[in-house]
Amino acid sequence: AQEGILRRQSLRESAARTYARALPIVPVRARGLTIEGADGRRYLDCLSGAGTLALGHNHPVILEAIKKVLDSGAPLHVLDLATPVKDAFTTELFATLPRRLADDARIQFCGPAGTDAVEAALKLVRKATGREGLLAFTGAYHGMTAGALAASGGATDVRVTRLPYPQDYRCPFGIGGERGAEIGARWTETLLDDPKSGVPAPAGMILEPVQGEGGVIPAPDAWLRRMRGITADRSVPLIADEVQTGVGRTGAFWAVDHSGVVPDVMVMSKAIGGSLPLAVIVYRSGLDVWQPGAHAGTFRGNQLAMAAGAATLAFVRENRLAERAATLGARMLGQLQGLAAAHPCVGDVRGRGLMIGVELVAPDATADVPPPAPDLAAAVQRECLRRGLIVELGGRHNAVVRLLPPLTLTDEQAVAVLDRFADALAAAER
Ligand code: PMP
Repeated sequence: AQEGILRRQSLRESAARTYARALPIVPVRARGLTIEGADGRRYLDCLSGAGTLALGHNHPVILEAIKKVLDSGAPLHVLDLATPVKDAFTTELFATLPRRLADDARIQFCGPAGTDAVEAALKLVRKATGREGLLAFTGAYHGMTAGALAASGGATDVRVTRLPYPQDYRCPFGIGGERGAEIGARWTETLLDDPKSGVPAPAGMILEPVQGEGGVIPAPDAWLRRMRGITADRSVPLIADEVQTGVGRTGAFWAVDHSGVVPDVMVMSKAIGGSLPLAVIVYRSGLDVWQPGAHAGTFRGNQLAMAAGAATLAFVRENRLAERAATLGARMLGQLQGLAAAHPCVGDVRGRGLMIGVELVAPDATADVPPPAPDLAAAVQRECLRRGLIVELGGRHNAVVRLLPPLTLTDEQAVAVLDRFADALAAAER
């Protein structure tokens, strides 16, 4: 059955299909960290729906919440009408927000995908400021619809001014760390303040507190506070894209919580829907300039996603899974750094919480920073799969192996994941 399904899909699906190419498996059952293929093989899933499954696959509290809605006879589709399910989700979500935002926040249900919420955020700040231009960052990923795409790294759009995202490894200024980040911040100030720079007053700045698809690059907290200061001083709304970093993933409920930065707009999706599609923006009420009907969409009221999402948010909060992600993530990062010391093909290991990246390089004794090795990264991914471990690739050169395990990962599972990864690395290197 598995071979037939894979063959038919590869013939019928668009050439754009992505994950399916690198992961030729046919999942038929899943629970927690584990996926079972149609051929009976089991895999440890450290892709987690690209960071969506905070509680892993089919967590009992999520299944229970979904069944409860189904059994209650509640309508599954009511556009954006108020329902008890929506009320419960909103209450739960607001309880997780930074205090200063929660006290004065509005929520707009977008959806169904992260990219839809990004579009809504860009549209909102443009309307609120009456300005067009956006500030976005190198290596950013915000989605695949026109506005989100334009704000993503590599895209060119006259309305988007690209600023350097701070990075230690391959720092564009060659100095790395907080000093490199500070230079980037000053560069941003100069661009905004010098009339000769040609950068018009922007409608907003959009950033990821940790770049995910860009290769797991955590921004220093000090830099985030600098960006908050720079934007606040110039009345430029700051949009934090927490689509991937949210709901405990980085070791805080929201990644901005690490720095204490309170953005004007937060973009949320992935984990907030507890495996089902859901996307919202939350913003300070002062930005709520929209006329009734100014933003719409048929699928903004997914009741099952809201119920699954509320259960997820409550479970993460009650079980302190953000703290768990911080401690377990730090331990795994340390172990991977140990592995890197023994493998010259590992150029860098970085991350925050359970958002971890391992950058593979072609060892080159003459280079300060060796060139990225996308082919080796693909080989590591293949060797991982052969050993029953699912990982994702990312980064600007596609040379970063990404680990995004569920926050429910146990100590024993973490050991199994790292053992398989170490074996795969050794095999790919040969
Ligand atoms: N923003 C970020 C930071 C993301 O990581 C993603 C998805 N990887 C998106 C936006 C887009 O979300 P979606 O794929 O659901 O449209």
